[in-house]
Amino acid sequence: MNDLIFKPVEELIKGLQDKQFSSVELTKAYIQRTHAIDDQLKAFLSFDEDKTLKEAQASDERRAKNQCLSDLDGIPVGLKDIFSEKGQPLTCASRILEKFVSPYDATLVKKLRQSGLVMWGRLNMDEFAMGSSSENSAFQVTSNPWNLERIPGGSSSGSAAAVAAGEVPLSLGTDTGGSIRQPAALCGIVGLKPTYGRVSRYGIVAYASSLDQAGPFARTTKGVARLLQVICGSDAKDATSARRPVPQFLKEMCSFQDKKWTLGVPEEYFGEGLDPEIRASIESAIDFYRKCGYIIKPIHLKTIEYAIPVYYIVATAEASSNLARYDGIRYTYRSPRAKTVDEVFDLSRSEGFGDEVKRRILLGTYVLSSGYYDAFYGKAQKVRRLIHNDFMEAFKTVDAVLTPTSPVPAFKKGERTSDPLAMYLSDIYTISVNLAGLPGLSIPCGFTQSQLPIGMQLIGRPFEESTILSIAHEFERQHSFHTQTPQL
Ligand code: GLN
Repeated sequence: MNDLIFKPVEELIKGLQDKQFSSVELTKAYIQRTHAIDDQLKAFLSFDEDKTLKEAQASDERRAKNQCLSDLDGIPVGLKDIFSEKGQPLTCASRILEKFVSPYDATLVKKLRQSGLVMWGRLNMDEFAMGSSSENSAFQVTSNPWNLERIPGGSSSGSAAAVAAGEVPLSLGTDTGGSIRQPAALCGIVGLKPTYGRVSRYGIVAYASSLDQAGPFARTTKGVARLLQVICGSDAKDATSARRPVPQFLKEMCSFQDKKWTLGVPEEYFGEGLDPEIRASIESAIDFYRKCGYIIKPIHLKTIEYAIPVYYIVATAEASSNLARYDGIRYTYRSPRAKTVDEVFDLSRSEGFGDEVKRRILLGTYVLSSGYYDAFYGKAQKVRRLIHNDFMEAFKTVDAVLTPTSPVPAFKKGERTSDPLAMYLSDIYTISVNLAGLPGLSIPCGFTQSQLPIGMQLIGRPFEESTILSIAHEFERQHSFHTQTPQL
């Protein structure tokens, strides 16, 4: 069964349909793989083997009766430890939620069940999704499967590493400023942040509500399109979920196959700080599209220089408000030293949250405080609008924007932990996409000389996920970067 673990989802679907293997056999292959390597990789925070195998068994029973719920029925999927899955632990990689068990299913988890997917494990992340390396997890640092001394990216660190290492074929993460695309790039897999509003946020622990969006990881664009299909749709339980019909992504992206799109390449994304090997890979991807007959158009997105400061005002402001609910009274952690009500709040929060989370709460509280609100938060919201306008202006003449996903390949553990600003720069190319609410995709487009994956980002118009998927698929069809696997 070991030859199954790196197969793309398309082949797994076929194998199940042709009865080459059952869902239980398939699931066991990933469970075995996880047991074999996760001591080194540390992608999983917890798992429940019996529960997972029961779900696989139920899928096999449905298949025997010809009652499959979808093409993905019986395929395992891993969940970032930020999604509520009834009866399972939900820690957000934080001490403050260490013993919390979800009382209900997130809408997206409900949708996974309705399509028959098998949920395998709870995946490591940066605490409350704040970070770019997994080093802010209160419990463990996940390694990059391509080089165990390096980080896998973050905050959806375990979700990316587990798929890249063959511990699970599909996974879900969240992306507030790049947390799906950056780890996908650093681990050499495909990751998609959908348009804001595509996926319900109900049952997902909130970090920055106006930016948070859940999305899929897979080895291929088709895998991502299929999982996206399952989780999308409007939801009465999330007022920001988009009330618009969901297209058939896979069908639509395939129907676009022979189109010759116009791609915008923003000069500002190729400046100082971009690793030369990444630049070279992106440039050869651009050449590839040119040879395919696409039109390549240099564009300007001048507001990128404001993206990081605006993000760290908006995101921290929203975080400080969202995280006020962890008060030592509800949820799990309460300081044993607390004697008064005030101490319950103060000590539980100061012992329960990690340093980065506290830094952001402080920043967020400050930018919202009276007297500073207009100067910081109010102004950031205005600049956010300009960033959005900048993209929309570009989309009048281009169908998608092509950029590097991350300025650097996977860095060494510990390299950026003492310098928050250096860590924040990891997201320079991804953050503006969240501020503008657009869909963004990262796909493998090369390797550095030391065998570290390189990712390319495609950004689309709102609700045009199929377009960027189709453009990415064109690249994937004629390259083999996505078929390479780490030696682990
Ligand atoms: N790295 C960014 C941050 O620390 C983005 C995180 C995310 O997208 N969840 O906030």
